[in-house]
Amino acid sequence: MLNIEVITGGMFCGKTTLLQKKIREAERVKFFKTYVFKPSTDNRYSESAVVSHDGDEIEAIAVRHGMQIVHHVINDSLTAPEHKKVVFIDEAQFFDAILVNVIQRLVANGCDVVIAGLDLDSNGRPFGGMPSAMAMATKIHKLTARCKCGNESYVTANKDKKSTVQVGNEGYEPTCIKCFYN
Ligand SMILES: [Zn+2]
Repeated sequence: MLNIEVITGGMFCGKTTLLQKKIREAERVKFFKTYVFKPSTDNRYSESAVVSHDGDEIEAIAVRHGMQIVHHVINDSLTAPEHKKVVFIDEAQFFDAILVNVIQRLVANGCDVVIAGLDLDSNGRPFGGMPSAMAMATKIHKLTARCKCGNESYVTANKDKKSTVQVGNEGYEPTCIKCFYN
């Protein structure tokens, strides 16, 4: 059985926390070999770690190009034929259309793939490789936070629409679909 699992939603929804839970669970399985990757464009807190907003860290390999994930995983040999590779990718919205090829190559080589990333950008448009990953998924976790109006969030909006330069999570807030389009 092969799985392509996608964890998505806006910022502040707990995507990285759920990804870390799944990494820790996979690490407990003796016949799994786990790999954690993230795009090197994301260096908010650490160059070489997946970092959740509560500071809980898991080591990750930062890659500049999606196909580096494929080369790294496929060239790494397993110690036993019954072992299985499980590949985790955080902040996957920063990979473009190449994410489709990355997923296909990994699954064709017998890997499970778990992908976390933003589904929408702050303009409410599908973000990078994530829409394709969601279409290919065997399982999707679409998480939400809460808008300050009380509704479940739909998108992460700029607090100040005039400001164009944004670093990290500051300046963004979870926003419901009604508040976003009003
Ligand atoms: Zn709202």
